[in-house]
Amino acid sequence: TKMDRHTLLGKLKHYFHHQSFKSDLQQNAIITILTRKCDVFVSMPTGSGKSLCYQLPAVLHSPKVTIVFSPLIALMKDQVDHLTRLKIRAETINSKMTESERKRVINDLYSVQVSTSLLYVTPEQAATDFFKGLLSYLVRKSKLAYIVVDEAHCVSQWGHDFRPDYLKLGVLRKLYLNIPWIALTATASADVVKDIMDVLCLKNPVAKFTTPCFRSNLFYDVIFDDSIGNSYQHLKDFIDQCLCDDLNCLENTPNINPLNQPCGIIYCRTRELTEEIATVLSRKGVSIAPYHAGLKDKERLAVQEAFMSGHIQVITATISFGMGIDKATVRFVVHWGIPSSIPAYYQESGRAGRDGKLARCRIYHSKQAKNSLDFILKSAITQAKTQDKQKKAKGSYSMFLKMIQFCESVQCRHEFFADFFGDDKPQCIDKCDVCSNKEAVKIDLDVFMYGVNN
Ligand code: ADP
Ligand code: MG
Repeated sequence: TKMDRHTLLGKLKHYFHHQSFKSDLQQNAIITILTRKCDVFVSMPTGSGKSLCYQLPAVLHSPKVTIVFSPLIALMKDQVDHLTRLKIRAETINSKMTESERKRVINDLYSVQVSTSLLYVTPEQAATDFFKGLLSYLVRKSKLAYIVVDEAHCVSQWGHDFRPDYLKLGVLRKLYLNIPWIALTATASADVVKDIMDVLCLKNPVAKFTTPCFRSNLFYDVIFDDSIGNSYQHLKDFIDQCLCDDLNCLENTPNINPLNQPCGIIYCRTRELTEEIATVLSRKGVSIAPYHAGLKDKERLAVQEAFMSGHIQVITATISFGMGIDKATVRFVVHWGIPSSIPAYYQESGRAGRDGKLARCRIYHSKQAKNSLDFILKSAITQAKTQDKQKKAKGSYSMFLKMIQFCESVQCRHEFFADFFGDDKPQCIDKCDVCSNKEAVKIDLDVFMYGVNN
């Protein structure tokens, strides 16, 4: 039975207290999932509301149960608490719970009138006899609405969070072919999507809802560090240009809210580099501080506060450190040395221009950094002691080569992302160095590769 949009909106307000859908994509995914006619794949950025895509259909198909696989107990707890506050019955089964809690959850699942709408489980549960028994019982009684795989990129060796337990989910898929499966993720390169389809055996035709990766307000370029003279001065000039771009120039808007001040991020590979760049640029008059995992909690918090409030305009950060910083007015993201992979670069550079205004994303690419990274990654392969580790090391190396290709080919940067993520060719026009001046990029690249100018 198809529900019209008006009724659906009413249900959204009633159960989740949201006034509207976050996006057409969210709404359309929900409408398709509700029909239970096919498997569905959803790929949207973090924070865009993927959970609702299965939670609302799950609620509307209650008293049938929806089973959700999620990789971390903390993530499951967060969702269960959220749903409980909304008075939606959600439970988890995991290794950390007490026997009596577990009994209570299971009793409800096997009762005549099931009141659990959503059951969150970790993937390692999938292979247990207990769980297989539960599943076959629910299917036999026609009490299973959906099987959901959240953070579905964990099935893929190409993803950065590969979880071997996720591979067990494919076996379940084959046992019950009539249950619709929903896979959701924020990180999906073409390789990863293919793995998700294969491993989870999603049934063709799969309905796909994916946010296109092209962001037309981001200007991408690559600077070949070996041919620019003093690279710190070059960086300083770039920062000045970015912070004064267009309407963002402070002189034009003296009463700007500090939260909305233009700012920027410089990613470096090592803590030492974050310190060095901060020191050199601050001598050149840039308002800048380093931010990395080596700082004491108090210091780190202070830098974060200062950055958020606009007292510090630029931070230099290590990539490995997940930042709790998200500012809409990031006007530039620099990678000082090559990023670790295309998806990592897409995500890190994507912190720029969240307000939709022009922002710049730049890689400073140097031979020296390239060669030393090449060496480190190759050694990691030869030194890997287990097969798993070796696979991982080889994966990292091939992602690095892909990143080199990004820097060292004369192809539209946005198109490169689109190819990688399996999107259509974007209308870049002049939103990258290649499209705005192909000849100049060719010349710089020649100098970089063959040292023509040396
Ligand atoms: P994702 O899994 O895509 O990272 P979440 O499902 O965790 O995102 O949702 C991110 C936030 O957006 C949550 O706080 C959620 O409550 C909120 N949200 C989801 N859908 C809507 C909506 N339609 N209107 C307002 N807020 C929403
Ligand atoms: Mg999520």
